[in-house]
Amino acid sequence: LQQFDVDKVRLDFPILNEKVHGQDLVYMDNGATSQKPQSVIDAIANFYYQTNSNVHRGAHALSDHATQLFEEARVKVQHFINANSRKEIIWTRGTTESINLVAQTWGRQNIHQGDEIIISTLEHHSNIVPWQMLCEQTGATLIPVEVKANGQFDLANFKSCLSSKTKLVSVGHISNALGVINPIEQIIPLAHEVGAKVLIDGAQAAPHVIIDVQKLNCDFYAFSGHKMFAPTGIGVLYGKEDILSNMPPWHGGGEMIEVVSFEKTTYNQLPYKFEAGTPNIEAVIGLGAAVDYLEKFDRKQLANYELELLDYATSKAQQISGLKIIGSDCEKASVLSFIIEGCHSQDVGMILDQQGIAVRTGHHCAMPLMSALNINGTIRASLCFYNTKQEIDKLFAGIEKAQSFLN
Ligand code: PMP
Repeated sequence: LQQFDVDKVRLDFPILNEKVHGQDLVYMDNGATSQKPQSVIDAIANFYYQTNSNVHRGAHALSDHATQLFEEARVKVQHFINANSRKEIIWTRGTTESINLVAQTWGRQNIHQGDEIIISTLEHHSNIVPWQMLCEQTGATLIPVEVKANGQFDLANFKSCLSSKTKLVSVGHISNALGVINPIEQIIPLAHEVGAKVLIDGAQAAPHVIIDVQKLNCDFYAFSGHKMFAPTGIGVLYGKEDILSNMPPWHGGGEMIEVVSFEKTTYNQLPYKFEAGTPNIEAVIGLGAAVDYLEKFDRKQLANYELELLDYATSKAQQISGLKIIGSDCEKASVLSFIIEGCHSQDVGMILDQQGIAVRTGHHCAMPLMSALNINGTIRASLCFYNTKQEIDKLFAGIEKAQSFLN
């Protein structure tokens, strides 16, 4: 196997040459969004140079070509997560919209007064609020699984929450706030045993681990393009075909219909039933190019390199006095979240920014997690395979500088 060549990979990402406040950019905010390789930027630009046209309206060559690129991207994504059929891949605006779609279609149809929906304390707000809204609409109850003090999903507590009332379990694959990997291989069969369906929020997982929805046997899997090297405004909802077929449509309009009349409108087949209106065509094509980009690599090698970076960053963090890692002693991927005694996270973030280092500070859209852990927020360095050990050295030199300013 060839050695992973990070210098070569960095050449694929033009933005990494940018200066910020006169310093080399050190981009460690991949949990918020990833940077885009040249091939994705080119795919989007070429669409506008050569092919721009609406899809599925094809009375002419450009529209046929746009439709072909658009549908090829769907098949790429199908293979990327090993779905059984292209009909199981629904385009959405992102993870948030994917989860809201399930809540408002499957949820409105299947969740009733007295039912229970289980999530976890580790969830991103987008895997909390849609279920709170559904519970308000239906009279169901939302139950959050506890988080252990080290940031781990509490499997024993999960087991005790399960009952015949549980209709849905919706949990993240990897926490964007802490990088902790949840035991979804155990969660999914346990939920199925009580007859519940399972949705996995894969927004943080898609760029970092290999996803096999058939092996996982989850009922739904949601993720966003922009966190995996594709543009913003495009995401995916995977659902098992028989479940999606029985779900009512959500948004009404063009594309999602078969025949419209004032007497009775009938709906299009999967996946179009859930894709009302002109889609974000350039972003779909960009996502297809992002999948192509990722699949050029041995993805295990990418994941191993990211783990090597995480281990390196973790051991450096452990040498800093007053620094506490949040999310430790458990399986993790690519995120180092921490607090520093006597320093406000936001102040540290600002001092790092002055040195060209981009991290995120705050609650990371996981306010219930922060309150369960009794903290206001963290400093989060979320790494990607284009980061280097030298950049991690810069991060910790920056942190020591911040400490000397703030203490
Ligand atoms: N869930 C997780 C775990 C996430 O990391 C994110 C994005 N940070 C989301 C959901 C929401 O994704 P989006 O904003 O792209 O819809």
